[in-house]
Amino acid sequence: MPLPAVILNRHVPHRILHGHLWVYATEVTRMEGTPAPGDLVEVRDGAGTALGWGFYNAASKIVVRLLTRTACAIDPDFFKARLQQAIRYRERVLPGRPARRLVNSEGDLLPGLIVDQYGDVLVVQATTAGMDRLLPMWVDLLLEACHPRAILERNDVPVRAFEGLPLRVGVLHGVQPALQRLTIGALAFPCDPTDAHKTGVYLDQQCNWEAVAAYAAPGARVLDAFCHLGGFGLHALRAGAGHAVLLDSSAQALAGARQAAEWAGQQERITCVEDNAFGYLKSSDGAGERFDLIILDPPTFTRTRAAVAQAMRGYKEIHLRALKMLRPGGVLATFSCSHHITSQGFLEMITDAAGDARRALRRERLLGASPDHPVLAAIPETEYLKGAVFTVLDG
Ligand code: SAH
Repeated sequence: MPLPAVILNRHVPHRILHGHLWVYATEVTRMEGTPAPGDLVEVRDGAGTALGWGFYNAASKIVVRLLTRTACAIDPDFFKARLQQAIRYRERVLPGRPARRLVNSEGDLLPGLIVDQYGDVLVVQATTAGMDRLLPMWVDLLLEACHPRAILERNDVPVRAFEGLPLRVGVLHGVQPALQRLTIGALAFPCDPTDAHKTGVYLDQQCNWEAVAAYAAPGARVLDAFCHLGGFGLHALRAGAGHAVLLDSSAQALAGARQAAEWAGQQERITCVEDNAFGYLKSSDGAGERFDLIILDPPTFTRTRAAVAQAMRGYKEIHLRALKMLRPGGVLATFSCSHHITSQGFLEMITDAAGDARRALRRERLLGASPDHPVLAAIPETEYLKGAVFTVLDG
């Protein structure tokens, strides 16, 4: 039986020809057949040429996510080959790391599937109806490829609502594991698969913790704002910094950071502050606090394009405060994980804030997500994490 087909407008969007995987509802002229959410479909241009095959879901604005542009059977062997390719890539770019993202959705040509590895525990998220329906197959493939002790599903991500999928958390294989102690970056951290943040840890920052630590001067006073488990601050201490203020609004995050500091033997050199960063930065600046290294890694301030201007005001406010609090020669490491804020927009906002704060900056390095979170060049949306390191060059 032929697959149902989605026929695009006469003009095939250039994006798709260049490797983008998404078809928007507004680009569809007509349908052949009546696919259910999560069914496989063929995508054709107005002249009848097949462009690719992927998962359909009429409930989403993105009605198709392509899996392949080459005609082939999309069966368990197809997905097994994609999984093996994803695992081989991690072996190359992050060899031997116990915690890493094994499958990064579009970045591994498996749109809608995320698999994070925490030692011998795997945490799975399905964000499309097509992948959600295939979860039993993914459990079999992951057991065969990785032999995990447990596979958990953290299908409590809000994006599932766009696909009409219910929110679910549970054990797909084995038993619910207790909190684990795992090396992330170069230090041990408590990994809690029930933590509300991501799948427990911000694995996308793993390599950046070490990259930013390289800028910590001996004895430096560090502010790790929006610290979660304190990955940046604790790596800076490991690299020779003198003291780190670990700031987060979540008590649970700070409990994890305290535990990690203890395992690192650094508990005497941290101060944990449970506060709203906006309020803390304002009052510390007012009180004349000064730092040698400040890390800003806030959660996304905008989930919609419409809220970008307001988000930019929030970003600018914390950058202004941070820049004022840096000593001459001090370092700012800053990140944005907002899909709707471009690299260029982010960097311009920082230059703007530096102007207002009367600080001259030298850009030392641009950073992105760790390499186990690959980006598809044709899909700007997959490049959500942007970061940069600056030195204050006054004088
Ligand atoms: N820097 C961390 C990841 C940070 S994620 C790492 O590298 O692992 C964003 C963090 O900001 C979360 O831990 C969240 O609890 C915290 N957060 C959110 N809003 C906040 C606010 N207004 N003030 C302080 N912390 C906040």
